[in-house]
Amino acid sequence: MSMGQHGEHLSLLGMRAASSADRRGCIEVVCGSMFSGKTEELLRRMKRARLAKLRTVLFKPRVDNRYDEVKVVSHEGLNADAIPVSGAEELRSLVRAEEVAVVGIDEVQFFDPSIVDVAEALANAGVRVICAGLDQDYRGAPFGPMPSLMSIAEYVTKLHAVCAQCGAPACRSQRVVASEGQLFVGGAAAYEARCRKCFVPGVVES
Ligand SMILES: [Zn+2]
Repeated sequence: MSMGQHGEHLSLLGMRAASSADRRGCIEVVCGSMFSGKTEELLRRMKRARLAKLRTVLFKPRVDNRYDEVKVVSHEGLNADAIPVSGAEELRSLVRAEEVAVVGIDEVQFFDPSIVDVAEALANAGVRVICAGLDQDYRGAPFGPMPSLMSIAEYVTKLHAVCAQCGAPACRSQRVVASEGQLFVGGAAAYEARCRKCFVPGVVES
């Protein structure tokens, strides 16, 4: 077993076209603030899996329709076909572990808490589960199921953006358009990445 440059799981066991009983499942979490490249990293890993002739499927929560109903679209414009699902149960119902090697989940912070059990069950059944999401909300608080997912994951990759105020590595998402609630999805213009020093919990006008 070896680690890629971003902590990517590169188990050779997963490379074989073996039955699910032989496959070694795992959970990978790619987290960070807005503009930290989470979706790019998720899509990079999914692409590498497809190049290795592994069967992959990509999901995203239906709440996030910023750009596109069907595709996962990153700020950099990379995209891939993704299946929008209303929750963890719907996701689980759409995956047959014996037929899929890699499951990707984008914006996983928006899922209900049961996504943790679903990821665990898929990994136990031999699936490599790659979850990408915001680790903190706009208040700087842990976001939804992320702490639990990070705890049970074999691999956690924390990415950083660049602070829009000072240029330091940024770990927080500053909301700059007034709105309450974690589920507000206003697109890139409603947020900027900030470091701990420049971050103000809540909302500030830019
Ligand atoms: Zn800063």
